[in-house]
Amino acid sequence: MGIFGRERIIGKKPEELALMRVAGLLVGRTLEMLDAAIRPGITTLELDTLAETFIRDHGGIPNFQLVPGYRHTLCTSVNEEIVHGIPGKRVLREGDLLSIDCGAEVAGWNGDAAFSAIVGGPAAARPQDVALIEDTEASLWAGILALGVGKTLYAVGAAVEDALTEAGERRGWEYGIVEDYVGHGIGTSMHMDPQVPNYRVTSKGPRVVEGTTICIEPMVTLGEQDNHVLDDDWTVVTDDGQRAAHWEHSIAVTSRGLHVLTALDGGQARLAEHGIPFAPL
Ligand code: MG
Ligand code: MG
Repeated sequence: MGIFGRERIIGKKPEELALMRVAGLLVGRTLEMLDAAIRPGITTLELDTLAETFIRDHGGIPNFQLVPGYRHTLCTSVNEEIVHGIPGKRVLREGDLLSIDCGAEVAGWNGDAAFSAIVGGPAAARPQDVALIEDTEASLWAGILALGVGKTLYAVGAAVEDALTEAGERRGWEYGIVEDYVGHGIGTSMHMDPQVPNYRVTSKGPRVVEGTTICIEPMVTLGEQDNHVLDDDWTVVTDDGQRAAHWEHSIAVTSRGLHVLTALDGGQARLAEHGIPFAPL
């Protein structure tokens, strides 16, 4: 991770941001559809097929399929799997903690977002899993709220980490924040510079400029953050077997405010709760 801080951010033009909203909204709607489809007995491959059909029917390309060596539309990570789980025959069971990561490209522009949920709903969940999911999502929003033109990019990770530290203290435990995988810039490709650590680093990082578009994606565990990749060469799991959650949004920063490109309402409601201006695109 020694390359942090070298990148200079190149902002996008208003018309480019508007195109990115189209791609982001398709990702948001795909995740909304999947959230309603998650149930005990469904396989992760069935969810993947639903997502691919939905994206293609709405004029998009599943951009995960553009990642060399990856053939699926989603990453589906269950329980101790943190990220990059491959959809397959696994049958989801009541109480499983499922993280779904999804991306789409529309007219050459990309969106990328993820959420975590309990199969069967919160009533089927262990209380600590509900807390993990809520606190990980809240930490994502804390990171989003740290964005602004003229601010330093790595304030995002500091805000994510502070939110998780405070949440853990309130719950009476300590979360692990995975440091081996980071957020990223997004635009004509899904993964672009700059890297966006989801945790505090010593440097400040590049300045956030007008038209910055990035993905913030905290990966949080109920135990230690240490992890390894399974023999399938993709699935990242916790070493200690504790469960993990993953939330992600693609966000645009303008001098008029923020637009959460992959949120159904553009982030308007949550930004308003915190007094942060929402920027229509
Ligand atoms: Mg993603
Ligand atoms: Mg991402």
